[in-house]
Amino acid sequence: MKPDVFDVAVVGAGVFGSWITYLLQLSGAKVILIDAYGAGNSRSSSGGESRIIRMGYGPDDLYSRSALRSLVLWKKLFALVEPDNAFAAQQHFRHTGVLWLARSSDAYCEDTLKVLQALQVPIEKLTGADLGSRYSQFDFSDVAWGILETESGALMARRAVQAVAAQSQRQGAIFISDKVQSPGPTNRVESIQTESRKEIIADKFIFACGPWLPKLFPEILTNRIHVTRQEVNFFGTPAGDETFSAHRMPIWVDFNDLVYAIPNLDNRGFKLAIDAHGPEFDPDTGNRMVTAEGIEAARAYLRKRVPALADAPIVESRVCQYENTSNGDFLIDRHPQIENVWLVGGGSGHGFKHGPAVAEYTIGLLDGGGRIEPQFALATKQNFQQRQVY
Ligand SMILES: Cc1cc2nc3c(=O)[nH]c(=O)nc-3n(C[C@H](O)[C@H](O)[C@H](O)COP(=O)(O)OP(=O)(O)OC[C@H]3O[C@@H](n4cnc5c(N)ncnc54)[C@H](O)[C@@H]3O)c2cc1C
Repeated sequence: MKPDVFDVAVVGAGVFGSWITYLLQLSGAKVILIDAYGAGNSRSSSGGESRIIRMGYGPDDLYSRSALRSLVLWKKLFALVEPDNAFAAQQHFRHTGVLWLARSSDAYCEDTLKVLQALQVPIEKLTGADLGSRYSQFDFSDVAWGILETESGALMARRAVQAVAAQSQRQGAIFISDKVQSPGPTNRVESIQTESRKEIIADKFIFACGPWLPKLFPEILTNRIHVTRQEVNFFGTPAGDETFSAHRMPIWVDFNDLVYAIPNLDNRGFKLAIDAHGPEFDPDTGNRMVTAEGIEAARAYLRKRVPALADAPIVESRVCQYENTSNGDFLIDRHPQIENVWLVGGGSGHGFKHGPAVAEYTIGLLDGGGRIEPQFALATKQNFQQRQVY
């Protein structure tokens, strides 16, 4: 029997690989998607409950435009997978709004406001007094003003990625669960091998392996993608108290303190995470239990900002990882030596929302017709850490 030959083999069914597979399959290509642990698995960066989709990115309108485009495609996909059930479609995207907390002198938030206004993103600018009266469950006394993105919200991460991967299978993409081996040094790859000795033959290969990319391509990525350990805690809200539910609070981002919070979605608790980069982490074997120091850092912030939850019990916690490029820009580029291999990753703690736009951009690169963004090129990735994109 003649072996299957695919137009494209996509390795990694996280948010990037799943969206690439789905849009490629939709365009008529014959695609195979391979993942070592399954779509949206708990080791992957795309696993977990929720991810913020916001439009603001400081002065960087590239990411704002990308997020705007992505929200349209996310909603279209959710409507497609749940055609007869608007409620079920809403289970993938929660329309909470996203609030930026700004200080009196705050260049990043001022730039965010300018870009959002220029792109006509629906927003409300709130004064300190507005914030105090609308959200009295929080102590916003050091917050001078805010920007509320009224149409933004939360993507239910694991569920959303699995919906994309499942939809691409329904469209005809093949999915296999297996670990792909590094292609090794060559100019062109004819096939890739899996741990269980399957050979996958394709014309083009996309490695969308998130935090595993440096393991697969150590010679070019070891110092260009840093994988860091990130802790997330869900705090139990008092019985009968709805002040931390999505109809009473938006998601908020406090990038001055590198903290963000998500309402009590699906009754799992008020989610608080510290966005500062943690220590280096191994996505296969790393210990995913939160630490006493991490819990204390979260509680210290709660004492300041959310006094009612300062002593709340932790009802759930997670350890995930960021795969950080030098400044937080994504890596989406052809392998420098292997002509038919592309590398897609470097989500750097903010990539999830962009899955659809990253896929469109990557597909444009494959046929050579797309625009090139220098920000995504391998050549712009340094071997030091200087975060600029949040
Ligand atoms: C705690 C946390 C909070 C975040 N919050 C946000 C947020 O609010 N908003 C936002 O937009 N982004 C957020 N992010 C970032 C976002 O989640 C990531 O940027 C994004 O999920 C990265 O997706 P990916 O597809 O590149 O990688 P992954 O999701 O890690 O997918 C890579 C896949 O490749 C597979 N794989 C690896 N090696 C192999 C191999 N050899 N063979 C086969 N398969 C392989 C893995 O099993 C995995 O499924 C957050 C991340 C974390 C960790």
